[in-house]
Amino acid sequence: MIDFKITRDPQTGEEIWAVPLRGPLLLNHPLFNKGTAFPEQERRELGLLGLLPPHVDTLEIQVERAYEAFRSKPTDLERHIYLRALQDENEVLFYRLIQDYIEETMPVVYTPTVGEACQLFSHIYRHPRGLFVAYPEREHIDELLANTPQRHVDVIVVTDGERILGLGDQGAGGMGIPIGKLALYTLCGGIHPARTLPVLLDVGTDNPDLLNDPLYMGWRHPRVRGAEYDAFVERFVQAVMRRYPNLLLQWEDFAQAHAGPLLERYRDRLCTFNDDIQGTAAVATGTVLAAVEAVGTRLRDQVVAVFGAGSAGCGIAEQLCAAMVGEGLSETEARSRFFLIDRTGLLREGFSGLPPFQRAFVQPSSALASWRLDRPDHIGLADVVSHAKPTILIGVSGVAGAFTETIVKTMADLTPRPIILPLSNPTSRCEALPAQILAWTEGRALVATGSPFADVVWSGRRFPVSQCNNSYVFPGLGLGILAVGARRVTQGMFMAAARALADTSPAPTLPDAPLLPPLTASRSVSHCIALAVAKEAIAAGVAAPASDTEVERLVHERMWTPAYARLTGC
Ligand code: NAD
Repeated sequence: MIDFKITRDPQTGEEIWAVPLRGPLLLNHPLFNKGTAFPEQERRELGLLGLLPPHVDTLEIQVERAYEAFRSKPTDLERHIYLRALQDENEVLFYRLIQDYIEETMPVVYTPTVGEACQLFSHIYRHPRGLFVAYPEREHIDELLANTPQRHVDVIVVTDGERILGLGDQGAGGMGIPIGKLALYTLCGGIHPARTLPVLLDVGTDNPDLLNDPLYMGWRHPRVRGAEYDAFVERFVQAVMRRYPNLLLQWEDFAQAHAGPLLERYRDRLCTFNDDIQGTAAVATGTVLAAVEAVGTRLRDQVVAVFGAGSAGCGIAEQLCAAMVGEGLSETEARSRFFLIDRTGLLREGFSGLPPFQRAFVQPSSALASWRLDRPDHIGLADVVSHAKPTILIGVSGVAGAFTETIVKTMADLTPRPIILPLSNPTSRCEALPAQILAWTEGRALVATGSPFADVVWSGRRFPVSQCNNSYVFPGLGLGILAVGARRVTQGMFMAAARALADTSPAPTLPDAPLLPPLTASRSVSHCIALAVAKEAIAAGVAAPASDTEVERLVHERMWTPAYARLTGC
């Protein structure tokens, strides 16, 4: 662990970092390294003379050079490998590059390319980053945490790699996800990169391809399950709470069987949330609120079909349902508007063995009495679309092509402005392509997707397609939580985030505008969300009281900008 002291120049206010490293060791530290931008005086003082070419670059010139290198790579995977290497070499340059070229770089740092990077993790591995907590080391988790380079950690993103995007069990390769998510915390939310820690809980893998791959880097063992798994996660959480009592812990890409139970177990014990359930719900709710406003209707008047009743699907349905109740519907009325379809068909009365999170959305038999069905034992999406007449269709199943032409055209026959969100990732799992949806609905649909897509041109009109990505919400949520030191993450904070996101949408005022602001506005969106979340945390009594002005100052102060600090020796 490397300790360094930060002071400020009393005249200019510039940050001065007193660092204990010199020469090659300094150049090898990604947080301190400025590469060719080390000024003459620092080169002299810190033993760097001769180790760098003589010309001193600005950060802007370095960005230009790095962008040229990024563009020269032949594939997105190669671009991902390049950016990861840059992150491990010079964090300021990495963040400034991805900030300046966010639309090109974000899909490479995160979805969809990160999926491929997780699948090939053991083949493209170059440099250590993050903490691997492997099951055989379960007695020593405190020691593992003490080995990390960070002295202070504000945010941990943790996965066990079992359900990576829509790609299933990627074992230790799942580490790509916490690394990518935390990069977005910094890029969009301004969380200082030195205060973030990606964690992979390695409990083995049941993926035979990985177990048979001689290059696989994880623990070669079938997944630990049941009581042993629970006890291991408990040990991890306790060790984290001992070392960082005020930390924000984000659960990411756990399989459905663990995601909900882990959230329930820990949500009242520390400041924690599950992004697949709650973050997804907030971004989807914000997107739907924006779409409903753009169409000129109210959320309470909608009928919602959700294809894929897993962590994301049920989380989205719960939050939309709560928002409908907020608009005056009773809970029973609101729930009657949701039709959730899973592998076994529509969730309905008479199904036994459903987990509690699905049971809450079971449709009563009486509501289906008039439906004319070919196969009453399996009510599929097509049946739901023609009988329930949904105005909103959300896909979170990981089943590519599930929104067929017939289904989308039937929906468009029954509702003037269908709201269709195929959210499954990566791109190869998308339920329907935006170009198909807009063609099948003759440009009437409002579309947002899970993965990024280029603008669609249909009949001479251009439709930019928003990526309804959790990155619109979690960085701002985290920023708001850290700014006011919230002790818990409440449902109200997710609703505040969703409403703040909807407020930033250009769609209600501009025809054919995307449902969400462009990625280039990510920092300002995160700022708005952080303010709303921080104020809600205070109102809910999970953060110390502060005036609105004070909240604004706290949020502003927390936002790190990628720029070089002045370095001195110590
Ligand atoms: P999950 O495994 O918890 O849920 C997926 C559900 O789909 C399961 O319940 C499964 O039984 C169901 N399913 C699978 N095949 C089906 C079929 N043929 N018919 C009906 N249902 C079927 O996973 P999750 O966390 O809910 O994520 C699901 C998908 O949503 C993934 O592709 C993920 O990448 C995506 N997602 C997108 C966003 C976003 O864009 N903001 C956020 C979270 C998840």
